Amino acid sequence: MSKVSRLPVDTGVSGWNAILPEQVPAIELKAEEKADYLVVGAGFAGLSAARRLYQLRPKSRIVVLDATRVAAGPAGRNSGFMLDLPHDLASSNYAGQLERDLEDIRLKRLAIDFAEDIARENKLSDEVFNRSGKVNGAATEKGMQHNTEYAEHLKQLGEDSKILDAKAMKKLTGSGWYVGGLFTPSTATIQPAAYIRGLADGLSKSGVSIFENSPVTSLKLENRKWVATTPAGSVTCSKVILGVNGHAESFGYFKRRLMHVILFGSMTRALTGQEIRAVGGERRWGITPADPIATTVRRISGACGDRIITRNRVVYEPSMQVSEKLVKRMGKTHDYSFRERFPELENVSAEYRWSGRLCLSYNSVPAFGEQEPGLFSACCQNGLGTAQGTLSGMAAAEFAVEGRTPLVEAFLGQPDPQKLPPEPFAWLGANAYMRWKEWRAGREV
Ligand SMILES: Cc1cc2nc3c(=O)[nH]c(=O)nc-3n(C[C@H](O)[C@H](O)[C@H](O)COP(=O)(O)OP(=O)(O)OC[C@H]3O[C@@H](n4cnc5c(N)ncnc54)[C@H](O)[C@@H]3O)c2cc1C
Repeated sequence: MSKVSRLPVDTGVSGWNAILPEQVPAIELKAEEKADYLVVGAGFAGLSAARRLYQLRPKSRIVVLDATRVAAGPAGRNSGFMLDLPHDLASSNYAGQLERDLEDIRLKRLAIDFAEDIARENKLSDEVFNRSGKVNGAATEKGMQHNTEYAEHLKQLGEDSKILDAKAMKKLTGSGWYVGGLFTPSTATIQPAAYIRGLADGLSKSGVSIFENSPVTSLKLENRKWVATTPAGSVTCSKVILGVNGHAESFGYFKRRLMHVILFGSMTRALTGQEIRAVGGERRWGITPADPIATTVRRISGACGDRIITRNRVVYEPSMQVSEKLVKRMGKTHDYSFRERFPELENVSAEYRWSGRLCLSYNSVPAFGEQEPGLFSACCQNGLGTAQGTLSGMAAAEFAVEGRTPLVEAFLGQPDPQKLPPEPFAWLGANAYMRWKEWRAGREV
């Protein structure tokens, strides 16, 4: 009997989800179900796994269980950059090793193509999925130097990019804060909550059963079948895919090998017409920071109004949850970063503030594989889950149905996540390191 030790808790309300129309009431699992495949987790990994399973075995019975509502978890709380290019969060300028980066780009593009098909099939608008490209914004000369080094690395990889000066940045964002930027054309940007909801709706229409507010509280092997139990029901199946990201550890896998990190976001209320004119700039854009630890900003425009989303600050938190008080405190840094960038919007306040979990490993590898006969994990996306989670879900589904496909081999060729130092040393070390990186990033935050 394997009891699930912890269930997900997300603090604060994600603006991405809150600005969308109300969801239809959740269908909870309230019976003893049988399935060919069970997917636990309805984020990027879980829902992509369900879609790939459906593509490979359209006649099989596929069930998805999630502890909360679709898009209420990290999948609906992120900044929506679906990155294809190297984005090594541990480096100073995102660049990694040349050979590894080339393979990484190829794989991430498979995931982004898969997502583009989802957007097309489900008629998701370009507010929801857009191959818009994005800019690495720099607020300092040091940031620009990171950009120049990164552009050089991209050139070696055969990838396009374009250096922008302060004037071009102002034209794009309306903000005079940035001294320059690096535009890379191939990234997709998504409205994460709308994309995840669209993907889930499409799967439901295809006959995949998605049960929400149905946390798996135990998972055990009985008479060569997996049995997942929820508070009001159970699913008995031949194969299970865990798409629960850091909660793989709560299911008893990868213990002391996953780093649980919390990020924070704030979204403004909709800007008025006068405010839109005052700030100027284009109405949709996305800026990742030239220094990986600093501030991500997005501007969105459409049915839910023109809004600006700010994301910064990060804490290492093995308990995987934070208090409302901390979300509020981190919001103060968001307000500060927002005002520095948009002084003309001094009367615009945040309507939503939230935290969200992500999962890293010490050696930046996924927690992937067949953990027990018939039980596959597609977890630990190293902070890049929109593309990486999609890819690991696709790979886990192929592993469960077809065995060692080329995509599966690409995952299996990586080492296991390394063991972490014992607590409290890991907590102290990681948080001290992140505070130091934030301090060093200075004006970029
Ligand atoms: C503020 C913020 C900004 C970010 N920005 C970006 C970005 O721009 N680009 C990017 O690529 N990534 C970004 N990320 C990271 C990204 O959100 C994650 O990597 C991604 O959500 C991971 O996808 P996943 O499907 O593996 O896991 P999740 O999205 O965490 O989904 C896992 C699901 O499993 C469910 N679950 C867990 N336990 C159980 C259980 N016992 N029973 C049933 N269900 C369970 C959860 O409810 C959850 O829905 C950001 C994250 C945050 C918080």
